[in-house]
Amino acid sequence: DTAAQDSHEIYYYQDGEDEEHLARLKLIDELKQALTNDDGQLFMAYQPKLNLKTQQIDKVEALIRWHKPDGQWVSPELFIDLAEQSGLIVDLTQWVVSTVVKQVAEWQQQGISMKAAINVSAQDIAHDDFFPHLEAELSRFKVPPALITVELTERDMIENEEKGIAALKALKALGVMISLDDYGVGQTSLGRLKMLPIDELKLDKVFILKLDESQQDQHIVQSTITLGHQLGFSVVAEGVENLASLNLLDQMQCDYAQGYYLSKPLPSAEFLNWLGDYHQAG
Ligand code: C2E
Ligand code: MG
Ligand code: MG
Ligand code: MG
Repeated sequence: DTAAQDSHEIYYYQDGEDEEHLARLKLIDELKQALTNDDGQLFMAYQPKLNLKTQQIDKVEALIRWHKPDGQWVSPELFIDLAEQSGLIVDLTQWVVSTVVKQVAEWQQQGISMKAAINVSAQDIAHDDFFPHLEAELSRFKVPPALITVELTERDMIENEEKGIAALKALKALGVMISLDDYGVGQTSLGRLKMLPIDELKLDKVFILKLDESQQDQHIVQSTITLGHQLGFSVVAEGVENLASLNLLDQMQCDYAQGYYLSKPLPSAEFLNWLGDYHQAG
């Protein structure tokens, strides 16, 4: 009887959806616990950005990592998405801000002058606690605001536009740098780009991964660097995976290069080792 079969299938399908839903709820709950306990499951990894003008590593991007006690790694794409959907992102970002500002202060005490970029979401920017928390942590750890960059995607800037732009302007007034992440794959018109209170354009890695092989990517990247500079922005390329692409970016007057060719994102101790080796080799 097909009707019965159909209804059985529908029921079965919904059953599967429930399981997926439960798995997501469980993950959100585990993430909440990991944040509350702060027992090392969550930690920051740091990926160097090479200043192409000076050939110095003077900046990193901070990227969150989650290693569960059961041995499982959860990708940030997945759990950041869950955190955004559940509202947990606000607490998560506060934890990220505190951890990274403290890390920058520790580096300073060790004589290492290093700027750091933090990724934030639309909800963070619109939230009343975000700015006061960042400001309080900067003053608690005596970190100059200019050492911190906030990275936001085009989507995050467009959501909550009015409140978002006001919040970005407040950050800028404090002296924090603003970066437009994943530029080139989103919705930002040139008219809007002109209006955004940003300091940096971060070219999405889709244009960079095969830069050395693709004439089209080279045209896009060169035009964007020129446009960015003429609008007064610094330009960063992420996803640099080989020397040929790095050299092209240098020739194109790109300001910063970031990618696996230099280093993957590393926990802080490993990053310091990498930095020591890099300086010795260079
Ligand atoms: P994103 O901010 O665009 O970060 C860049 C991503 O590209 C990182 O992935 C980085 O590991 C990866 N990447 C860097 N160089 C290369 C390369 O040469 N080749 C390739 N194929 N990939 C490269 P990751 O760490 O998995 O993070 C993914 C996304 O998750 C980030 O994209 C960001 O949107 C989000 N995310 C990560 N950490 C945080 C965080 O602390 N807070 C928030 N709100 N979002 C975060
Ligand atoms: Mg980023
Ligand atoms: Mg990006
Ligand atoms: Mg991204």
